[in-house]
Amino acid sequence: MAVNKKSEPIKKKLLEAKHLYKTYGEGDNAVRALQDVSLDIYEAELLVILGSSGSGKSTLLNMLGCMDKPDGGSIIFEGTDICDYNDVQLTAFRKNNVGFVFQSFNLIGELTAKENVTLTAAVNNHPSIVEEVFAQVGLKEKMNKYPSQLSGGEQQRVSIARALAKDPQILLCDEPTGALDHESGKQILIQLEKLVREQKKTVVLVTHTQEIARMADRLIRMRDGQIIKEEVNRKITKAEKIEW
Ligand code: ADP
Ligand code: MG
Repeated sequence: MAVNKKSEPIKKKLLEAKHLYKTYGEGDNAVRALQDVSLDIYEAELLVILGSSGSGKSTLLNMLGCMDKPDGGSIIFEGTDICDYNDVQLTAFRKNNVGFVFQSFNLIGELTAKENVTLTAAVNNHPSIVEEVFAQVGLKEKMNKYPSQLSGGEQQRVSIARALAKDPQILLCDEPTGALDHESGKQILIQLEKLVREQKKTVVLVTHTQEIARMADRLIRMRDGQIIKEEVNRKITKAEKIEW
């Protein structure tokens, strides 16, 4: 790996978003959700996107994960603009490269935790990975429970296991602690931190909680659909030490 002057390894750029725009609605009702947003995402980094409700965080995350397309701008991945992908290419990108974790877990209630994860693993041709990802999130003994038999924190761990079952390089997490009590939320943050530090995954963590930004390698602040500040965190705090 190349090294810069301060002997820090130079991280590879995974995604490069340039001049993204998105407007919902028309005329007097138009909401400018993103206005000229540009950012880079690197391998093995914990990037926190911080902003109050309505600042455009989810809109941005959905575009980075190819769940929605911008009105203008580009997102470069491995030399091509994923905004130009057709439906087949979009599905393949989502399948192979990004895992999603949502505030509301989005598990299928009629399936056990294991079945929820198996479904994703099978679709992605990684059937053997299921037990491994449950072990990673420390939930192997509860694999056969239904979501309703699990606490909120446990359900979120299942949804992280489900995201990991694709073996993606990037995890896009939209307010993953938003529906959890403090202690369960902290366990989720510790989990996500571990994925970056030990497995060199890239975690993009969207939150409106200022304190959570302290665990980031890099922090992007959003307001009214724009990035108002981008900074490298020189004093990273471990997730276990964060209180909010
Ligand atoms: P955040 O995740 O930071 O709370 P969002 O990206 O969800 O912000 O929303 C940004 C702005 O876009 C908000 O004003 C929101 O009301 C609006 N918005 C988001 N999604 C839609 C939609 N599908 N239709 C209309 N307006 C939307
Ligand atoms: Mg949101």
